[in-house]
Amino acid sequence: MIKKEYVASYIRSLYPTHEGILKELEVYALENHVPIVEREVAQLLKVLLKIYKPKRILEIGTAIGYSAILMASSTEDSCTIETIERRLDMVDLAKENIKKAKYDHRIRIHYGEAESILKDLEDKYDFIFLDAAKGQYLDFFNDCVKLLNIGGIIVSDNVLYKGMVASDKLVVRRKKTIVKRLRQYLKYINELENFETCVIPIGDGVSITYREE
Ligand code: SAH
Ligand code: MG
Repeated sequence: MIKKEYVASYIRSLYPTHEGILKELEVYALENHVPIVEREVAQLLKVLLKIYKPKRILEIGTAIGYSAILMASSTEDSCTIETIERRLDMVDLAKENIKKAKYDHRIRIHYGEAESILKDLEDKYDFIFLDAAKGQYLDFFNDCVKLLNIGGIIVSDNVLYKGMVASDKLVVRRKKTIVKRLRQYLKYINELENFETCVIPIGDGVSITYREE
């Protein structure tokens, strides 16, 4: 948690707990150490999607399908979601969960490395959720921009990485490279012309980037 713990837990206490499949997946993720989006980030995604009403969503990093299902449940039935995952065990789990949630007609999983799949995709998206290998965000971002409609949004998760990105005191040695890369990423997306970015210290840190032109 990045913000003061008591503020975060107060805010969290305000949010209704999920029911059904989302609740089940939250329990599974906790027990099996799957890094799904934190509750505050889930809530941010829901509100963003309800305001923005995208028709086509792309996600990098499916894991068990939690955020994909969450995004499907926050958008119209006409909105499609494509999500990329490189671990076959995760793809299988996600497929099962998505079917159980009755979103298999709207969510399509691409199995493989994001770096190569992103280069193969051709259609444009209005909303891209970046939630995979943090060391590669900058590369992913540039591939994603090519797939993003003007007026579209890229939301990136875990950009403050346990607070380490904001303070050298917190950086543990083996995470130095990731932290360095995330700092480069945040600097880059904040300085980019024709884009407007904000960084929000909830969950593990989230950034929202809007494409103007
Ligand atoms: N978005 C999910 C959590 C994703 S966890 C949720 O909130 O519910 C990150 C996932 O990204 C992991 O399952 C990991 O296997 C996958 N991943 C990491 N790097 C990747 C890459 N380069 N290409 C494809 N998938 C990747
Ligand atoms: Mg994440």
